[in-house]
Amino acid sequence: MTAPPRKEQKQRKPFPRQDYNYFLVLDFEATCEKSTKIYPQEIIEIPVLKIHAKTFETEAIFHTYVQPTANPILTPFCTELTGITQDVVCGKPKIEEALKMLDKWMLDQGLLDGETAFVFVTCGDWDLKTMLPGQCKYFRLPIANYFKSWINIKRPFSEVVRPNIRVDLMEMLQMLDLEHHGRHHSGIDDTKNIANILQELAKRGCKFKATSGLTY
Ligand code: AMP
Ligand code: MG
Ligand code: MG
Repeated sequence: MTAPPRKEQKQRKPFPRQDYNYFLVLDFEATCEKSTKIYPQEIIEIPVLKIHAKTFETEAIFHTYVQPTANPILTPFCTELTGITQDVVCGKPKIEEALKMLDKWMLDQGLLDGETAFVFVTCGDWDLKTMLPGQCKYFRLPIANYFKSWINIKRPFSEVVRPNIRVDLMEMLQMLDLEHHGRHHSGIDDTKNIANILQELAKRGCKFKATSGLTY
């Protein structure tokens, strides 16, 4: 007797096994002006998506707006770019408190138990190489060790899609045939789009490694 023909199943390839349990996709928005630099530049939005490294699904979200204090009034340009209006940041936690809230959330999420491996994922190196260290230096705040190495998604994108290519978020989405969701330069929407890129690169076989770090 011959075995019945196996049902043709279009099985999705599993994601490659990752070195991490979780990816934390982060995208700061900050005070800005059109053609000049604001000093000190201050973070006004902190969104973090906790993404399971086996499923690439978002398991939890941290999101807060942050009240700037050195230059408390947002420029019209900043509001136009980010969609964040003055009333959205008014009365929100200041940076020190916001970072403590994020730390508490990470603790509550079991990320700081010493056994869970996680890494931040950003689009570019600006968030964790420039923005956070610059603001922490200005306000004399410590930088938690977990912020000191991260994955700049542009690097694995370039490895998977095309070597030595310079791209922004919108171009990566386009080149991966992914739809853009929400508003570009809204931090929370940007993280969701970065998460979709992360998942798509994993589908294409990417095993992620930290690409960048602070050396102190
Ligand atoms: P993004 O994650 O690309 O939305 O940008 C993060 C932050 O970089 C914004 O909140 C702004 O502070 C700054 N930024 C981004 N694009 C511009 C721009 N075209 N001009 C001035 N600042 C910008
Ligand atoms: Mg960004
Ligand atoms: Mg953004």
